[in-house]
Amino acid sequence: MARKFFVGGNFKMNPATREQKRALVKILNDANLDPNVEVVVAPPSLYLISILEILRKDVQVSAQNCHAKASGAYTGEISPQQLVDAGVPYVILGHSERRSLFHETSEEVAAKTRAAIDAGLKVILCVGETLEEREAGKTQAVVQAQLAVVVAALEPAQWENVVIAYEPVWAIGTGKVATCEQAQEVHAATRAYISSAISPAIADAVRIIYGGSVNAKNCKETGNQPDVDGFLVGGASLKPEFVDIVNTKR
Ligand code: PEP
Repeated sequence: MARKFFVGGNFKMNPATREQKRALVKILNDANLDPNVEVVVAPPSLYLISILEILRKDVQVSAQNCHAKASGAYTGEISPQQLVDAGVPYVILGHSERRSLFHETSEEVAAKTRAAIDAGLKVILCVGETLEEREAGKTQAVVQAQLAVVVAALEPAQWENVVIAYEPVWAIGTGKVATCEQAQEVHAATRAYISSAISPAIADAVRIIYGGSVNAKNCKETGNQPDVDGFLVGGASLKPEFVDIVNTKR
């Protein structure tokens, strides 16, 4: 099956001002983007609605997190239902910064993933190992353990609303990008795992994107690996080179 190339931009807690936000949107609005690529940007929740209003319609927006509950006394949180009501189609869940800095467990990530999809969102589901885990030869075991909880939480048909982002923690924001062989190896093993844990058809259809210090220089080689279906981009999504990453396949 031909999987549509997917490029996400995770702005994290950036930009710092509304003026910078407008400048970022202008870069995208003025760009010549490959129409064969699904492009999604994830600004801070404060900017979701205003970006939706000014961003070109062929670029979608994503939240960076959501709660598992629909509403209630959860100060500081945003629910999947609120995101759907605001017209936001995607949410990033399980980002390593959420897992490490905010102590989110794989069980919480799975519960949020189920709640988000039940509410009508699509999920960019992040998984990945630390350097210590990689050096101990545990990469695939860690990735599969993170995915197994989500496999147990979702109905098989719900995987059509999931994009898996393989993001080795040691490569995020460090400038240390995984080699194209390292990325391909984990992506192929992850697809094989999805095939045995859910079904070959779902494994064939699900997009597995790579994240971790992707930039305009290193995107081509990794993006052309058979099991790499796109990227989740952090730092470089705040720069004009994000357009070159979107256009990796051109
Ligand atoms: C990310 O935070 O998802 C990410 C991949 O960051 P960076 O591209 O900056 O490594």
